[in-house]
Amino acid sequence: MVRGFSDNYGRLPNYIDGRYVEVYTDRYLPTYDPGTGRVIGEVPVLKDVDVAVGAAARAFEKWSRVPVYDRLQYLARLKALMEEHRDEIVRMLSQNVGKTLTDARGEFRRAMDSVDMALGTPSLMAQVLKVMNVAGGDAEIDMETVREPLGVFAIITPFNFPVMIPFWFIPLAVTLGNTVVLKPSELDPVAPLFVASLFERAGYPPGVVNVVTGDGATAEALIKHPEVVGVAFVGSTRVGQQVYAMAAAHGKRVLVGAGAKNPVVVMPDAAPADKVVENIISGFFNLSGQRCLAPGNLVLVGDAYAKYRDLVVDRARKVRVGYQLHEETEMGPLVSDAARKRVAGMVEKAIGEGAKPLLDGRDYRVDPAYASGFYLGPTVLDGVAPDMEIAREEVFGPVIPILRFDTFEEALEFANSGKYGNAASIFTTSGKYAREFARRVNAGNVGINMSVAQPLPFFPFGGRKQSFFGVLHAQIDAVDFFTDRKVVMGRWW
Ligand code: NAD
Repeated sequence: MVRGFSDNYGRLPNYIDGRYVEVYTDRYLPTYDPGTGRVIGEVPVLKDVDVAVGAAARAFEKWSRVPVYDRLQYLARLKALMEEHRDEIVRMLSQNVGKTLTDARGEFRRAMDSVDMALGTPSLMAQVLKVMNVAGGDAEIDMETVREPLGVFAIITPFNFPVMIPFWFIPLAVTLGNTVVLKPSELDPVAPLFVASLFERAGYPPGVVNVVTGDGATAEALIKHPEVVGVAFVGSTRVGQQVYAMAAAHGKRVLVGAGAKNPVVVMPDAAPADKVVENIISGFFNLSGQRCLAPGNLVLVGDAYAKYRDLVVDRARKVRVGYQLHEETEMGPLVSDAARKRVAGMVEKAIGEGAKPLLDGRDYRVDPAYASGFYLGPTVLDGVAPDMEIAREEVFGPVIPILRFDTFEEALEFANSGKYGNAASIFTTSGKYAREFARRVNAGNVGINMSVAQPLPFFPFGGRKQSFFGVLHAQIDAVDFFTDRKVVMGRWW
C-alpha cells in the first residue's frame, strides 16, 4: 500500500476498481531514491491489463451517465484532499524523482491548476452548435451537436512529472465522463499510486480511475487492448513515435507529447543582466535539466557572448547541488544511474568533438553521505558547433551548450534547424526582435524573456515537428480529445 511517505514502500500495488490490489507477476523492477541511490520499492511489471481495463470499461457504463455537476463534486473533493496531503505528495515527488522540494512544490501547484481547469468543464462543454430550421418541408428540421465521452482512455506518462502530467489528462477525462487507466513511469510510481488512493477517498466510483505499474510491455498491452478507445502519451520521441504508430494501427485516438531541444536566444540588448542570468540558470538546472521545456542550447548573439558567457558560468558554479529533500538544495540528482551515465557520456563526446568545458559537472562532489546518489553538477560547454550531437540531441541533464552567432538571422536559422519544436525563447529588450522571433520560430511554445515557456492549462500545450504527434494537444485541447461530437437532427410533425 502507499498510504503515506516512507523510506521503503516494499512491493508496490496497483490501484484497480477503487482499491489497492497486490499484483502477482514474475517481474519486478526497483524504484529508487536517486539522492541516496537506495531502493525504496519494487514495481510489479504486468503484461496483462485485462483486469484494469475491464474495471474501467464496466465503470464507464454508469459513470458516463452521472450528471456533470455530480462529477464536479468528486473533483472538488479530490482537490480538497490533495491540498490536505500537499506536503506528503511534495515529499514523495522529491524523494522518488530526485527533484528539489521547490521543484516538487511547483509540480504540485501545476497539477492543481489542471484540476481548476477541469472544474470549468461545464462551460467548456457548452461550446455546442444548434441551428434551428436548417431545412423545412411539412415540418422544420433542427440540427445540433452534442459532446459525448468515449470510453476507456490509457494515459502513459514519463518520469519527470509523475503527478502533473497525469493531471493534464485525468481530471478532464473523467469529468467529461470517461474512465482511465494510468500507467506511470516505472522509474517513480510512488506519488501517483498515493494520489490514486485520494480518488477512492473522494468518493469516485470504483473503476473510474485505475493505475497499473509496469514498463513498455504494460504500455503496449494497454495501447492494443480492444476496450481502450484512446491513448494520451507523454515521453521520449523514440517511444512516442512507436506509440503513435501502434495506436493508429489499432484504430485508437492518440495524442503524443515527445522530446525536445529548446533553443534560448540571447540578444546583445538583453537586460537586466542579473534577471536574465538567473532565469537562464533556473531554466537549465531546475529538475537537473530533466524537463521537456528546459532550454537545450544557449544561443548567444554578437556581443551577448562576451557579456553573458562568464556571468552564466559564475552563477552555474554557485548552484548548490545536494540531497533533494534538503530545503537549501538548488539542484538534486538525476533520476537514475543510467541517466547520469548517459548525460556524462554526451558531455564526453562533445568534448571529444571540440567543445570546451568551462564547468565540468562530472567532477562534482556532493556531501559524502550521499555519494551513492545519481548526481552530476552543472556543466557549461563553450565552443559548441551546430552540428555536434550535444547541439542537436536532447540531453535531459544539467548541461548548458553555448553556441555563438553573429546575427539574429543566423540564430533564428539555427533555432529552426533542429528536429524538435517544443519550445523556443528569446531574451531581448527589442520589441521588434521579440515579435519577429515569436512570428518565425517553429515551436509550439514561445518564451519572451523567459527561458521556460510553460503554458497554463487554459491554453494548449504546444509542440511541433518531432516534439508532438497528433492533432489535439494536452491541456485545453484535450476537451476535444476526450469527447466526440455527435450531430443530432430531427423534426417534429
Ligand atoms: P520514455 O519515453 O522513456 O517513457 C515514457 C513512458 O513510456 C513510460 O511510462 C514508459 O514506461 C513508457 N514506455 C517505454 N517503452 C514503451 C513502449 N515501447 N511502448 C509504450 N510505452 C513505453 O520517457 P521518459 O524518459 O520517462 O521521459 C523523458 C522524455 O519525456 C523526454 O524526452 C522529455 O522531453 C519527454 N517529455 C515530453 C513532454 C511534452 O509535453 N512534450 C513532457 C514531459 C516529458
